Amino acid sequence: MFIEKGMSIAQNLEAIRRQLPAGVRLVAVSKTHPVEALMQAYDAGQRVFGENKVQEMRQKQQAMPADVEWHMIGHLQTNKVRQVVPFVVAIHSVDSQRLLETINAEAQKCGRVVDCLLQLHIAQESTKFGFTDAELRDMLATGVLAQLQYVRVVGLMGMASLTDNREQILAEFQHLRSMFDELRHTHFAGAEHFCELSMGMSHDFPIAVEAGSTMVRVGSLIFGQRDYGQR
Ligand SMILES: *Cc1c(COP(=O)(O)O)cnc(C)c1O
Repeated sequence: MFIEKGMSIAQNLEAIRRQLPAGVRLVAVSKTHPVEALMQAYDAGQRVFGENKVQEMRQKQQAMPADVEWHMIGHLQTNKVRQVVPFVVAIHSVDSQRLLETINAEAQKCGRVVDCLLQLHIAQESTKFGFTDAELRDMLATGVLAQLQYVRVVGLMGMASLTDNREQILAEFQHLRSMFDELRHTHFAGAEHFCELSMGMSHDFPIAVEAGSTMVRVGSLIFGQRDYGQR
């Protein structure tokens, strides 16, 4: 998959939306890109944006229209939670009980309930964050969620291995899906809000959709390659 030369952000968005079935939401991952680029996406109707750095998301939130939905998708340090909880709509990258508890405490202070997704480690690389299956089951089994009234766990998130091996990526997404289905029938039985499966990025979102994704997080296919050198 690639972006044709001369394609605008609006055209990129349109091309991606055409590939998404009804019910799959597009999170436009705008990290490293300037507000002008986000505004082009906004003007093309995009309202859901994903960022992975607290400071950057706050700055963009202040510069962008108020009806943007901000999703935190990157690893979040507990000491930075306070800065995003007042406005963030969802946190996709909850990877520890301590982080969940911190979000809960800060959300209580703001009088908000923050939607969270629990990040599962599904890739072969050891560098990616996330719970293992066993850690996730163990945490839920303690019943801790019942104590955390200011977070609402709405689903799971995962990142597949960075590989061209389609079968491997599909298997990893299917694993996340099966964990999601398991929890829907056990810990979250009857909880209709537990309905989100955040998986799929620029290079693998069609595979993620095939495996049952409800939210794809797409960056470079919309905004072009990121230039980390300019930060
Ligand atoms: C950067 C990022 C994405 C988007 O990556 P692209 O390959 O540019 O689509 C998605 N999810 C997470 C967690 C990211 O950090």
